[in-house]
Parts: sequence; structure tokens; C-alpha cells
Amino acid sequence: MKFKYTDYHIHSSDWSVDVPNKNLKFKDYAEIAELSRINICFLEHFELYYVENDKLNPFYGEKVQDYLEKIDEIKETYDFVLGGLEVEYYKDKEIELLEFMDDYERELDFISGSVHEWIIGYPVTTREKLLNFLDKKSMRDVINEYFETYEMMVNSKIFKNVCHIDTIFRYINDNDLKPEENCDISEDRVLELGKLCIKNKIKIEYNLSGLRFPIKRPFPSKKVVSLLKKNGAKFFVGSDSHSLAQFKCFFPKVKEAYNFLDYI
Ligand SMILES: [Zn+2]
Ligand SMILES: [Zn+2]
Repeated sequence: MKFKYTDYHIHSSDWSVDVPNKNLKFKDYAEIAELSRINICFLEHFELYYVENDKLNPFYGEKVQDYLEKIDEIKETYDFVLGGLEVEYYKDKEIELLEFMDDYERELDFISGSVHEWIIGYPVTTREKLLNFLDKKSMRDVINEYFETYEMMVNSKIFKNVCHIDTIFRYINDNDLKPEENCDISEDRVLELGKLCIKNKIKIEYNLSGLRFPIKRPFPSKKVVSLLKKNGAKFFVGSDSHSLAQFKCFFPKVKEAYNFLDYI
């Protein structure tokens, strides 16, 4: 890559529906990345359930082909841009996901697996929807099911990279939705999940987005990252930017994160 550091986790509005500014293009990020001397990888949400069922989804039908073309176009001007996808894991779609990986892994620079929701319509990464989920299910079950689903994804070995392994704590933490007493929110639990990634030779994201939320720590925490590194984990760093302001604010943090990973 052209520059020393790479932010592997950027979302644009053309391809990710959760970007608030609906006119946020690849080029907008690329111009700032060039000035900041950092490589960037677009890691747009690719959620098979919505790709198959929601006509408003940017990847609906076969539009992943358009995405590949747009990525090729931007690469012609900016040789430090990578094209990737943040692919949602569904335990009942493992075969389709494997087929997708077969077809597209070589077409893209980077694909990473994620768990945001395991019951359609209840993502745990949207505060309002998580609250709806918690109306229906106990906090303990929500946390346990998150870890069970994530473990299934890791054990499926569909993905060589995984995002934000403990993002269930984006809102469930002492600074926001207080964990109930019967909930296991221990770092050991995250550590075990990380070790499972090591065992399966899966790279783990050091996702900095938590610094923007009341939890004020990356996913996973620095402590867990250090312990996992000592156990042989490989990491990539992502700001998980959904706006230019986030990207601008986070590029020094991305560099710091790589230096931290080198140092520990
Ligand atoms: Zn994500
Ligand atoms: Zn993301």
C-alpha cells in the first residue's frame, strides 16, 4: 500500500444505509485520506437478508457488481483506496455466505464478518432497536446470544477477518444501559472469543468506534488487545467512520492504534 497506515473500516452513503449524510461519496474520504497520508478501505455493510429482501438496500439483487465497478473507478485516481465489505453473519445462511465468499473474496481487497443482529429487525448496535429488543428479551439472554452467535461465526471459518468482537457493549455498559447483575460482561469472555479467533487463524479488528460512545473504549479494550497479542492474535485497525468528521477526528487515533499494536 502507498502509505504506512490503513484505516480498514469506512462507510459511505452510497452503499451503507446507516450513514446520516446521504451525499457522502468515496471521493470525499479519498481526498482527506490523501492529505492525511493514510490508506482507506471501504467496508460497507453487506447484509444478505436485506440484499435479498429489501429493494431499498444498496446491494439489492446483483448490485454488488456495480459496487465493484465503482471501487475500480475510484482506485484509478486514488491508489491508496481498498474495496471491502462488512458482511453480516446469519447462522441460517452459512451456505449462501460461503457461496458469496467463493464468488467475491477474490474480487475485493478485504472482507470482514460482523454480528449486529441475529433476530431480524433487532440490531444491538442501534440504541433504540436494542431497547425494543430488551423489552422482549432479558439483558442476560441478549448478551449470551450475542456471544453464542459470534462464536458460531468464528467457528464457521467463513471469514478470515472479523469486526468489533464485543460490540454488544456499545450501549450495555456502566456509562449507558447499566448491565443487570445476572449478566456476564467480563473481559474474560471477550478474551476467550479472541482466543477462538486465534485458533481459527482469524484476524481481529481493533475497532475504535467505542471511543465515540459513553463506553469510551475501543472494541475490544486495550487490555484485551494486549493479552490477545501476547497469545498470537493478528489485528487490523478500523475507525468505523460513518461521516467525514469522524474520519478526520480518528485518523490520528488510527495511527496511534497501530503504534500501540507494534509496541505491546
Ligand atoms: Zn459494524
Ligand atoms: Zn461498520
